[in-house]
Amino acid sequence: MDLYEHQARQLFAEHGVLVPRAEIADSPGVARDIARELGGRVVVKAQVRTGGRGRAGGVRLAEDPDAAERVAREILGMTIGGHPVRTVMLAQPVDIESEFYVSYVLDRAAGRFLAIASAEGGTEIEEVAAARPEAVARVPVDPAEGVTEEKAAEIVRAAGLPPRTAGVLARLWQVLTREDALLVEVNPLVRTTGGQLVALDGKVSLDDNALFRHARWSGRETPHDDPLEAAAAARGLTYVRLDGEVGVIGNGAGLVMSTLDVVAGSGARPADFLDIGGGASARVMSDGLSVVLSDPGVRSVLVNVFGGITACDTVAEGIVAALDTVRPAKPIVVRLDGNNAARGRAVLTDRAHPLVHQAATMDEAARLAAELAHTS
Ligand code: GDP
Ligand code: MN
Repeated sequence: MDLYEHQARQLFAEHGVLVPRAEIADSPGVARDIARELGGRVVVKAQVRTGGRGRAGGVRLAEDPDAAERVAREILGMTIGGHPVRTVMLAQPVDIESEFYVSYVLDRAAGRFLAIASAEGGTEIEEVAAARPEAVARVPVDPAEGVTEEKAAEIVRAAGLPPRTAGVLARLWQVLTREDALLVEVNPLVRTTGGQLVALDGKVSLDDNALFRHARWSGRETPHDDPLEAAAAARGLTYVRLDGEVGVIGNGAGLVMSTLDVVAGSGARPADFLDIGGGASARVMSDGLSVVLSDPGVRSVLVNVFGGITACDTVAEGIVAALDTVRPAKPIVVRLDGNNAARGRAVLTDRAHPLVHQAATMDEAARLAAELAHTS
């Protein structure tokens, strides 16, 4: 789970990393009041879980409360990288002397963490790494040993950071371990003209499997930025939107993931991951179809069900119900196998809808769905 900047900075502050004073606003009027409280001059920052806000115009300085209200109104009307801006943060401006980059990321392949650091912070680190790879230090961190004084000193040396940043590196490691994060990134970490080290922007991704240990996040459903994901969540569906053209619906996470692979192997790209789960009702199936079909990027749909607890005839009834309510204009390929498969296939055969095609195997279904996506 990715945290918003204002949530990340809350964790930084709790672990002793300096952050500018700031408050959140969801309307221009509130932004004006906060600006007045913070001394008039503020940085107005879009709260979206995506990078490059500054470049998109989502981070702007306002000279006084009037300007803060105006700028907040503009930023609250923006969509950045497909994410609508719902709140802004107003922060006391900081006078920057230099900007650094520091992060810890999980290196899954190596089974440990990686500290990535650079004395050239501020811009996207991928760009620094591409232009001047020697300016970006990568130091492995053994999770059992953690960031000791020696390790912090090693990172500081490798990246050419000011020696005092070692203390910040140790505190950010605490954020990572105590909060069960998989990623902690500060860009920029700045040295102010007054000589303080301040985290000006932060990104934290928490390990979803550890959320039960962090009640303050687990109880709170973060809003879905994608309207289709929000619609799916409202119906209780496990749905992730991707950017391909073949809509994928299946039962069981493993089967759905395999289906994504088989679609990719057939020369098409999956448009989503949708798991209707075990024991799905006809209602869940028709809800799922209606979400997937309303994705404008979808050109064909592949329903891949291996009936276990879920009976295939129930799934087929859900499809038939959706045909009457959603009135699809895109082809749907259905592969039913397992529990009550013959009855399920018969339900679809009886309905004889011109856009519904049946396939005997997963490979055949994926090939047909890919072909229909390219020709329909
Ligand atoms: P991002 O574009 O999403 O990474 O947003 P950031 O919060 O990192 O801000 C982008 C850039 O705006 C920073 O690298 C700074 O150069 C600048 N910036 C942000 N806050 C301040 C501030 O308080 N003072 C000054 N001088 N610059 C700031
Ligand atoms: Mn940044």
